[in-house]
Amino acid sequence: MSENQTSAETWTVLRLLQWTTDFFSKHGSDSPRLDAEILLAHARQCSRIELYTAFEQEPDAEQRAAFRELVRRRGEGTPVALLVGYKEFYSLRFRVNEHTLIPRPETEHLVIEALDCAKLLQGKSLQAASGDDRGAPLQVADIGTGSGAIGVSFAVHCPSAKLSAVDISEPALEIARWNADQHEVADRVDFVVSDLLESIDSSQQFDLILSNPPYVSESEFAELDRTVRDFEPKTALVSGPAGTETIERLIDQARGRLKSGGRLIIELSPMIADACVKIAEQFEEYGQTRFVKDLAGHRRVLSIERR
Ligand code: GLN
Repeated sequence: MSENQTSAETWTVLRLLQWTTDFFSKHGSDSPRLDAEILLAHARQCSRIELYTAFEQEPDAEQRAAFRELVRRRGEGTPVALLVGYKEFYSLRFRVNEHTLIPRPETEHLVIEALDCAKLLQGKSLQAASGDDRGAPLQVADIGTGSGAIGVSFAVHCPSAKLSAVDISEPALEIARWNADQHEVADRVDFVVSDLLESIDSSQQFDLILSNPPYVSESEFAELDRTVRDFEPKTALVSGPAGTETIERLIDQARGRLKSGGRLIIELSPMIADACVKIAEQFEEYGQTRFVKDLAGHRRVLSIERR
């Protein structure tokens, strides 16, 4: 065997990435190269960046076996985030598992809107000449927190805020707790098991209520990619026949829980955007509404002012 042949047949990092990228692109992945890199880095216990200086290296037999297994499961549809146990969101790493929705990049727009609103509210509070609320920490709720992606990212970037991380699922809250700990905000977070705001003490008033609730309709769910449909928690995705059911309950409940001037900020799908604004407009407690679009130009976040 010549020198050249040997190197051509050696499973270097580069060849593994090339082969796997090709395999994933034939197996329905939207981001085949990225998936291959994340999985190979995981199998080699290194960072993705380190792969780039290791193209010519040969992972050992154990690493190759671990990688093969990950590639097989990804090929069967398992999301990369569930294979490696984490997902990057808002430049932070979030642990995820089968009990939590995998954070999506679109949801970062909600965090940005929430942080913008927080700045305005804090500015107003500082300007206030007097009053008990002057300079008081913002009270913020993340309803249906799941992995804690929204609430924890918000808390990291708004160091004075106090957060209620709420979820109907206890196993999801455990993951949120872990993530809050990891990002050193757990001392400012209350974890509450509740169906939306139902079990939250009614005396508690919030400056901001944030939520990425289930908003997929039953019929849309049937059409979702199997990577989502077969592997992510249905309760975190599906709301009911219309998709608006959970948002409607949340808009209704939040009226009595927001401070005057506070905001309810909800992720939604463009399909139900008009219906959701109409729901908010039925209630006299709510004032101005605005949408934030995602990078695809779709209305993705509805921000509603409490008069
Ligand atoms: N954006 C998600 C999806 O389409 C849905 C998230 C949700 O229902 N909150 O997979």
